[in-house]
Amino acid sequence: MSTSDWNFEATYLELRELFYNRGPVHPVASPQLVLLNEPLADTLGLNRLTLRDDVALLAGNEQTSTSFSQAYAGHQFGHFTMLGDGRALMLGEYVAPNGKRFDVQLKGSGPTAYSRGGDGRAAVGPMVREFLISEAMHALGIPTNRALAVVTTGEPIMRQGPKHGAVLTRVASSHIRVGTFQYAAAAGSIDDVVALADYAIQRHDPDLKGLPDRYEQFLGRVITRQAKLIANWQLIGFIHGVMNTDNTFISGEGLDYGPCAFMDTYHPNTVFSSIDREGRYAYANQPYIGSWNLARLAETLLPLLADTHEAAVDIANKLLNDYTETYKDAYFTGLAHKIGLYVRKDEDDTLTDELLRLMMETEADFTNTFRALTLGDTDALAFANRDDGKAWLAAWRKRLNEQGLPDEDVIRLMRQHNPAVIPRNHHVEAAITAAERGDFEPTHALLDVLRNPYDYEADYGRYVSPGPPRTYPYQTFCGT
Ligand code: AMP
Ligand code: MG
Repeated sequence: MSTSDWNFEATYLELRELFYNRGPVHPVASPQLVLLNEPLADTLGLNRLTLRDDVALLAGNEQTSTSFSQAYAGHQFGHFTMLGDGRALMLGEYVAPNGKRFDVQLKGSGPTAYSRGGDGRAAVGPMVREFLISEAMHALGIPTNRALAVVTTGEPIMRQGPKHGAVLTRVASSHIRVGTFQYAAAAGSIDDVVALADYAIQRHDPDLKGLPDRYEQFLGRVITRQAKLIANWQLIGFIHGVMNTDNTFISGEGLDYGPCAFMDTYHPNTVFSSIDREGRYAYANQPYIGSWNLARLAETLLPLLADTHEAAVDIANKLLNDYTETYKDAYFTGLAHKIGLYVRKDEDDTLTDELLRLMMETEADFTNTFRALTLGDTDALAFANRDDGKAWLAAWRKRLNEQGLPDEDVIRLMRQHNPAVIPRNHHVEAAITAAERGDFEPTHALLDVLRNPYDYEADYGRYVSPGPPRTYPYQTFCGT
């Protein structure tokens, strides 16, 4: 055992036992480290070499004094359920050299008290997807938990047919979810909600500690973080697929990249997930679902916000209205930046709305439209030859002239906001298929590209192609 660099802590265990379970671990036969996130290891101040000796730990084979699984609840597709880490084990909290505290968690490490009949395991394909997408998100500058490693277990698991088992190690600023608050409110008392809120404040908003209105301010902060996160997703065409309240971190980081995908052809109603039959989590719905999820958090905090229920509801409603404002501001400002405008004016929202309408009507590729605008390659635009397309380009150029900045400044801004490359669904699938055969080269090659998404000098070749049309409609599966 080599856990020398870690020195795990477990402040979460100071909460009442209602919040976690410390069941036994379920060792796997022959763990093998197949992916290690070396840049992340460096950021965390962990030694790449000693980490390679930690395979048993990263496979969930070792019982430690700081390991536990968390209880939580959640609205899944609108239905409330008691959940918990059914296949996850927290190794503990790790304090990086810069003083930041992270949860280090295994996913797929075996059954727990919360498995509800599931096997507690994960297949290598979905764990590779989570690794790829979270790394891409991080490189795109969007808050996310990150993957540190994937270890194959040497054991088969049954999904749609037999699959190779794997354990993902992921790192997050915490794993406290909206669903953790729902759990505290449903399974515990007001004292438990208070204890959890104070713990969350300690982890994420320590400057609020001890303030009389700390719960109101905390709720406001979570709302702001989520509004900005979802605006960021919209701005790069990302569809999460399972925006359940248990998949919503109060830290504002994204998580659980299962049946998710980046949109290729732009359409607001796009859904990729095979389990989202009603399109609840369609692209255009994501901002509203974010607000709905935050309303569920606000409900659990009502008794902490004011002395009377009425006053508490007023506070919560005001904060939830702020969500809409924060979201719209982040989204429309981001769109303005994507077309090279530094300072957004009200009229710009009409200009960007019209661009999106043109993109929808001409079935334009979301990422490559903004990429072509950035490169000044307007001939490549799907709407280049339409009258309304030409009119839009003229209006855009006029607005840019009005801004009166040198081209290089405009291009710099556009390059910062329009990725040259995103995880294309066909490349992600190809990497996963190879990984299922034990070949991780395509995953490494894709990671190399995804780690520099805004580099317009690089030659990304085939990685910028949306893929052959026959792969549509693309569907993603949970693979749980
Ligand atoms: P997810 O869709 O991954 O967010 O998972 C939703 C819930 O189902 C969580 O409580 C998971 O821990 C649980 N879960 C998912 N897959 C499994 C599994 N194979 N075994 C046990 N629990 C699982
Ligand atoms: Mg989840």
